[in-house]
Amino acid sequence: MTSISLPSLADFRRIVVKVGSSLLVDSGAPKTGSRLRHAWLAALAEDIAELHARGADVLVVSSGAIALGRNVLGFAPGALKLEESQAAAAVGQIALARNWAEALSHHGIIAGQILVTLADTEERRRYLNARATTAKLLEMRAVPVINENDTVATTEIRYGDNDRLAARIATLAEADLLVLLSDVDGLYTAPPAKDPSAKPIAVIEAITPEIEAMAGGAASELSRGGMRTKIEAGKIATAAGSHMVIADGRVKNPLKAIAQGARCTWFLTPSNPVTARKKWIAGTLEPRGTIYIDAGAVRALRAGASLLPAGMQRLEGSFRRGDAVVIRDEAGHEIGRGLVGYDAEEAQRIAGQSSRAIEAILGHSGRAAVIHRDDLALVGGESGPAAK
Ligand code: GLU
Repeated sequence: MTSISLPSLADFRRIVVKVGSSLLVDSGAPKTGSRLRHAWLAALAEDIAELHARGADVLVVSSGAIALGRNVLGFAPGALKLEESQAAAAVGQIALARNWAEALSHHGIIAGQILVTLADTEERRRYLNARATTAKLLEMRAVPVINENDTVATTEIRYGDNDRLAARIATLAEADLLVLLSDVDGLYTAPPAKDPSAKPIAVIEAITPEIEAMAGGAASELSRGGMRTKIEAGKIATAAGSHMVIADGRVKNPLKAIAQGARCTWFLTPSNPVTARKKWIAGTLEPRGTIYIDAGAVRALRAGASLLPAGMQRLEGSFRRGDAVVIRDEAGHEIGRGLVGYDAEEAQRIAGQSSRAIEAILGHSGRAAVIHRDDLALVGGESGPAAK
């Protein structure tokens, strides 16, 4: 294991940084008022600004809404009832978002708040929406600040921990790195609080049952996830082509500390986000229909372009927006598969038309592409200049 060279933060182009509640919110401070750790947040914003300035896209998944809000509302310590934690989240999220926006704005960075539920990341139609919003924010060089929408999420439909949520966000955003900043400095061979002989692990190439057993189950009072949800996050992220690192967030400038070689645990992915996503589209999803395209569109797709309405000749199946469809040429040969941006009925109406005509035909301005190039997996891959 030690022979593997560890990745460097400088290598990554899109990074999700997950911040745990216990880092942002002080548990020992006064009973009321803000307990947000401003100086720590300011230092983290500095680290983020540095990554951002060298051209990396950064997304933040920040916990802390419930921890902040419960204090403002004056709830007693200990477990909260569902509606109490929802009320706490409603109050705390405002403060959380404001503080992130302010901290980032000192570096000229615009923050955009995204609150998601489990369904937004699991259900493909909604997943496409969250994905498009995130992509647009990143294109505008803004930093999305994301949390679970705890005010409406109930037990059955919520993540409950931001570790797995952050891993889903890394997948959705095709991030190549997920950083989990936590109150531990990585994974140990056993829970270190219980076993003084536990040894830190620097790098994990595959999450085996032995690795899972090392995680134990402990979680601190403020944070929902323990090491177990971090391992779950590692599985999600590495399967989707992102590396993940668990690092100590209790220090000031924790990202700089990782870059300077602080102790942490890397979970390596054998893949990359684009390849992993294309594999998912090509292999995992059950296609709900077929779109036949003309020769010009076949050439365009192979050169790395999106599928536009003009190239569609006819279609079969009663697919919905977000479903996987098979794409075939006029002779019926499979060209690839993709996630379709329109329901079958609407796709039918715009088939063969120019993208400019979409609004006049449908009465609303849909997306310019029927299948976006990022949502396409071609048989044999792409070759042209526009290909990723
Ligand atoms: N979404 C929760 C909050 O913002 C935190 C969940 C977690 O600690 O992982 O309070």
